[in-house]
Amino acid sequence: MAVRYLLSTKFPTQQQHYHHVTSSLVPNSHNNTYDGAIPAKVELRNIKYKCVQNVKSLVNTLKLSTPLESLHRGNWVKLICGASFEDVVDIRNLSLVYTLAGVDCIDCAADASVVSAVNEGIEAARDIVCLRRPWVMISVNDDKDLHFRKAEFDPEDCPEDCSRPCENVCPANAISFQGKSTFGISYNKAPRSPKDGVITERCYGCGRCLPVCPYDKIREVTYVRDAIATADLIKRNDVDAMEIHTSGRQSTMFKELWCALGDSVGNLRLIAVSLPNDRDSTISCMNELFSIMKPNLQCFNLWQLDGRPMSGDIGRGATKESIAFAVQLAKAKQRPPGFLQLAGGTNAHTIDGLKKEGLFQATSIANGETSATSSSNSSHALIGGIAYGGYARKIVGRVLRSMQSQYGGGAPIEDHPEHLLMALREALALVGPVKCLQRD
Ligand code: SF4
Ligand code: SF4
Repeated sequence: MAVRYLLSTKFPTQQQHYHHVTSSLVPNSHNNTYDGAIPAKVELRNIKYKCVQNVKSLVNTLKLSTPLESLHRGNWVKLICGASFEDVVDIRNLSLVYTLAGVDCIDCAADASVVSAVNEGIEAARDIVCLRRPWVMISVNDDKDLHFRKAEFDPEDCPEDCSRPCENVCPANAISFQGKSTFGISYNKAPRSPKDGVITERCYGCGRCLPVCPYDKIREVTYVRDAIATADLIKRNDVDAMEIHTSGRQSTMFKELWCALGDSVGNLRLIAVSLPNDRDSTISCMNELFSIMKPNLQCFNLWQLDGRPMSGDIGRGATKESIAFAVQLAKAKQRPPGFLQLAGGTNAHTIDGLKKEGLFQATSIANGETSATSSSNSSHALIGGIAYGGYARKIVGRVLRSMQSQYGGGAPIEDHPEHLLMALREALALVGPVKCLQRD
């Protein structure tokens, strides 16, 4: 049954809210004291209290199924923190907000400190409202892959007159020139900050900075996650799922990784394989990968259809490739068992695209051409759900940036309930339609 997730009372915009709260904190012009300080503090405390109550009310309206039930119903939502994104402060806050918004899974880098940050965010969310825990998934690769790279350059090599298009194009605020002057003097003449250049932990490898540098100063550095370290990670009791990114063209690499992971995969509840659309070869590739996994596969499996990698934040058109991929797979008769889930370019337009194709929570294609589960022996939804990455991080990231500019970089979002409420509303606007929640 559909439930409402937006409160009917309008919460003021951030600007209105802070004008309202801070206006009574302006010093008295005669004696320079804060005449209104005590009432303002009380008012601020009341506002924070109301925000917490609103957060609880919103979350308490959600009727969440278990992650596995969501996959069967076709309303699974996964938050992708980014296979290479390692900013643990943002990751913790994103995990907290999206846990409250009801995601089924949080996918993150296969790194111990990142996994800990995700779990910390989840538990902080569950301290606010008692709700079920989303699965934690780690992402690894079997070979060179776009999701497993970082940009790199030496800012000392940058010409003084460069307008820094790299900084403007970066969606992750991962390029910084803190040594710049704010008074019109070239940043190159100001002392360099040790943080000038690419902030490695924030770079998630989207590659948008690479072609825009007019001096060709930016390099990409690729890496492959270590299989032994991954095996150790998935033995942790706070890791539930793993995703293997593969091109599918070199199944020997996939097999090597699968064998190196050994019995550790027995600890998992779900194993996902993320692959690009290789047109006519896709189904045969999936069948080959499945045959490699099958002897040691003791849990559910999922195919992540990576339409247009790391592009969901760009705009409406970015989601077309993931929808086309879903249509192609839904029609395929010989696909191996496993849930199907969209990714790569997914954003607020994806759900409408799926509905137009008759694929949202459907067990058969709208025009009746093909049986939904012709090759999977089960009655689950044709498309298990959607994973959101760049777009999900962008909409909540705006709130996080605003909060951090006021309170500093390490601020836990639950300490600032007014920001938590704003972030939760953003997250619910994305997650809600997949979960069939109604907007007011
Ligand atoms: S690769 Fe993407 S995230 Fe990394 S620095 Fe370049 S633009 Fe930013
Ligand atoms: S665009 Fe290239 S040259 Fe200019 S600041 Fe960025 S990396 Fe340096």
